[in-house]
Amino acid sequence: MSQAPHPTGAVANSPAALTNALPSYLDPNNLGPWGIYLQQVDRVTPYLGNLARWVDTLKRPKRTLIVDVPIHLDDGSVAHFEGYRVQHNTSRGPGKGGVRFHQNVTLSEVMALSAWMSIKNAAVNVPYGGAKGGIRVDPRQLTIGELERVTRRYTSEIGIIIGPTKDIPAPDVNTNEQIMAWMMDTYSMNEGSTATGVVTGKPVDLGGSLGRREATGRGVFTVGVEAAKHTGMDISTARVAVQGFGNVGGVAGKLFAEAGAKVVAVQDHGGTIYREAGLDVPGLLAHVARTGSVAGFEQAEAMADDAFWDVPCDILIPAALEQQITHANAGRIQAKMVIEGANGPTTPQADDILHDRGVLVVPDVIANAGGVTVSYFEWVQDFSSFFWSEDEINARLVKIMQDAFAAVWQVADANKVSLRTATFIVACKRILHARDLRGLYP
Ligand code: GLU
Repeated sequence: MSQAPHPTGAVANSPAALTNALPSYLDPNNLGPWGIYLQQVDRVTPYLGNLARWVDTLKRPKRTLIVDVPIHLDDGSVAHFEGYRVQHNTSRGPGKGGVRFHQNVTLSEVMALSAWMSIKNAAVNVPYGGAKGGIRVDPRQLTIGELERVTRRYTSEIGIIIGPTKDIPAPDVNTNEQIMAWMMDTYSMNEGSTATGVVTGKPVDLGGSLGRREATGRGVFTVGVEAAKHTGMDISTARVAVQGFGNVGGVAGKLFAEAGAKVVAVQDHGGTIYREAGLDVPGLLAHVARTGSVAGFEQAEAMADDAFWDVPCDILIPAALEQQITHANAGRIQAKMVIEGANGPTTPQADDILHDRGVLVVPDVIANAGGVTVSYFEWVQDFSSFFWSEDEINARLVKIMQDAFAAVWQVADANKVSLRTATFIVACKRILHARDLRGLYP
């Protein structure tokens, strides 16, 4: 319904027209991952009842920062990289989410990832909003000194919006404990005091938490076990295929193998390997630690990358990057269950194909929430300067994941919707309820 333009340039009494539907800094014809996120929000809007009047809050990031990151390379020349920090929502608490270093990072991607953090944090009910950061850089091309300089300059640039009570970064793709140590140090130097709570995923000796490194993979495994209980699948005889064998896929693969499952296929940036009888997962982890990839692992057959999608298996764990399961391969997937270790690995079209084929998708916004859950524990421990045992952390993590999964399952069942839509319903209601209680300022 079109209405007359308001003198301010807005259109009166028509929320859709009054506010621009899309941020002007994105190409409306190529929204990228942000477009996928918007479709996911549109799907849940009918389930939000009265809170739907706030739904536009979810359709734009609260704050978007783009920074130039210049550094001296080792050869004395200067290189510039583009960095981002997006705070999608802070209604329920400070921004929270990782920082990724990747040559293909885009603003649209960081925006979508920040929004998925808002949903994820609300889904497991940790008191955070959502944020994400990234630098458009291939860290494999940098020396260790260059990597440190890029990290420090980026941290200094985003220092104007991060902080222990404002926005707390953490590791994500291609970032690790060392990078968090440099971020913590840079922020602390600028502040003039040691602020351990400004980032999570730090080394244990610098206020990091026991169990944080394994937390995302452990969470993936935990929801896998819960989903298997609900669907009558026996994990101890399940065949598992994993894409991405780093911090998430590697740990999840190890835990599934320890529970008796056969990890039959693994794919990463270096190649794809297969073993019908099940791969030796500890051996493969050692090979990856040594060589950087699963490629060339002796006790396995190499396989064409595209054939990964046809592997007969019960559980598929995409634990790499976004948009891996698309309309082009969703019809080929043999698994009965997809557990999303990565953020955004399945496109909405692929989601529909899998749903129609009866494949259960445990979505990223619940499946990989274990990482940020233990980040929350780390942040709490830093504030209180009192540290918990690893058993305590793992037990609390498992309880939060089990409870969140049960709540989402119940909503999915009651509304006859997918687990993704159910997770969005639970999370969006929590975020928008907080928004409603706080009201608008001024
Ligand atoms: N990068 C992780 C994620 O996507 C963890 C974020 C955090 O711990 O803040 O969930």
